[in-house]
Amino acid sequence: MKQKKIMLALFISTLISGNLFAANYKKGIYLGTAGGYKNDIKVEVTVSKDEIKDIKVIEFKDTPVLTDLAKKRIPEDIVKYQTLAIDAVSGATSSSRGIISAVTNALKVAGADISELRKNKVEIKHFEVLKPSYNSEVIIIGGGGAGLAAAVSAHENGSKVIVIEKMPQVGGNTLISGAAFNSVNPKKQKLQNIEDSNELFFKHTYEGGDKEGDSSLVKILTHNAYATITWLESHGVEFQEKIVTALGALHPRTHKPIKPVGTGYIQAFKGYLDKNNVEIFTETEALELIKKDGRIVGVKVKREGVESNFMASKGVILATGGFAGNVELRQKYNKNLTENIPTTNHPKATGDGVKLAEKVNANFIGMEHIQLLPIGDPLSGSLSGNVERQIDNTIFVNMEGKRFVAEDERRDVMTSALFKQTDSTMWLIVDANSYENEGQQNFFNESIGELVAKERAFKGQTIEELAEKINVDPTTLKNTIKEYNEGIDKGQDKYGRKKYGSKIDKAPYYAGARVPTVHHTMGGVQINNRTQVLDKNGEIIPGLYAAGEVTGGIHGTNRLGGNALTDINVFGKLAGEEISKEKK
Ligand code: ADP
Repeated sequence: MKQKKIMLALFISTLISGNLFAANYKKGIYLGTAGGYKNDIKVEVTVSKDEIKDIKVIEFKDTPVLTDLAKKRIPEDIVKYQTLAIDAVSGATSSSRGIISAVTNALKVAGADISELRKNKVEIKHFEVLKPSYNSEVIIIGGGGAGLAAAVSAHENGSKVIVIEKMPQVGGNTLISGAAFNSVNPKKQKLQNIEDSNELFFKHTYEGGDKEGDSSLVKILTHNAYATITWLESHGVEFQEKIVTALGALHPRTHKPIKPVGTGYIQAFKGYLDKNNVEIFTETEALELIKKDGRIVGVKVKREGVESNFMASKGVILATGGFAGNVELRQKYNKNLTENIPTTNHPKATGDGVKLAEKVNANFIGMEHIQLLPIGDPLSGSLSGNVERQIDNTIFVNMEGKRFVAEDERRDVMTSALFKQTDSTMWLIVDANSYENEGQQNFFNESIGELVAKERAFKGQTIEELAEKINVDPTTLKNTIKEYNEGIDKGQDKYGRKKYGSKIDKAPYYAGARVPTVHHTMGGVQINNRTQVLDKNGEIIPGLYAAGEVTGGIHGTNRLGGNALTDINVFGKLAGEEISKEKK
């Protein structure tokens, strides 16, 4: 009888803790290691006889900001729910899996039954239940770069703001981008003797999109870029001194932040919003815009299965990004963009804004203009792993070791040339003019040494050695590079290239493979000069504003490299200012 009672008590306590099996660990503290995105992750796991008591992540080098939530949430969930059946944090999958594997390895030593721990499926909740409704002046849908810029700007302009974001963390594509920002910069460009003007920037952007963009929106983008740089700097974003040319930028006016990927922007925005108690509801999905008497007055959302109405007295800013990650939607506009072509985008770039705006009769423009980049990672399609630090010092060669396009061309021209090459794959070749040492990083928080160690890049002390490593005929590659360098001397390139930095002549030499990848959807909702969304009759939809990749009509047929960050920040800031002028 007594034994039965003990068994029952044990059963009830395991039910309460969510731990449906009887654990039996060797009490102690155990170390576990596993591969993360960048380096090995090391954890220290404390167990009692029947419980995982504590997990400390003691070595972790994956990109800060991008992986902060995974680093915090995964260990907490394992301890709270006594399970290894934990979902990766979306957007930080490799780091999440790395932590889970490291904990698993530690628990193996502690004598855990790993397969039981993996079977222990528990309903995991991270938030309080949503109230039926919330009130604000401004609701921003989407916490990517555009949404956060809009949030900061709206708050600065006196509005009460709420941001809703369906991913576990804010940052969107900005966080995983090369973070290039095009702008005329009177001070920095002068130091490098670069001639530039807002008019020239306008001309490049407008003509680079085959004059299909709305010229008044292009003018807003180009002529407000520098003021937006100084606004970002006032919020703590730091840019490198050197101005470079992003791939497809067509002119040296690209600013690169000091911090890796887009972490500099997102940290600055998030810092401001946290300091000013602006609420950000993550893992909260916008389902539908709420319309009353012809005006957008809020948005219906869902978090952890619970729906709620978020009401906005001034209005709603749509900042949901593009649809590069939605194969069905992109194929609706371009049949060739099958699921075989990867994307650089974050996993939630599914074009929800299109669905939300369609229902309120918004007009869409340029939906068929979808940009592919020629520099995707062959495995994931992402931008990471890219050996290029500036296009001025980089050449492209095909699998036969020959150049095939001017590397300073428009992105659409380069990508279509790449599709014609063997396996639609190319090698980017750089040298010590790009990387002074093995520790120097690309723009994705990866050093060239790390990329070589992981065989995501290859290295040779001579061009011949590099050619052997990438399976290209050494004589051909040598001749290709010789011809390219001679072209620099003559000022005449076989493929019509006009922008050069250094020759490719300084050992060691590096190569990284790249493929076409879907990058940016240039079409979207139509906006006016005040970022108000227009309907199919060209009328303003009262209370609805939009900024960022969800909008169309700015970049025309082809977005210049480095113009996306300019777009989302210039128009995000403007949307915040304009919506704040609405009556409360
Ligand atoms: P942009 O560059 O224009 O800011 P991003 O794609 O970087 O675009 O960011 C858009 C953000 O909007 C992403 O973080 C994405 O998860 C979020 N988002 C998209 N659809 C929804 C939705 N239905 N509800 C809430 N957030 C959304």
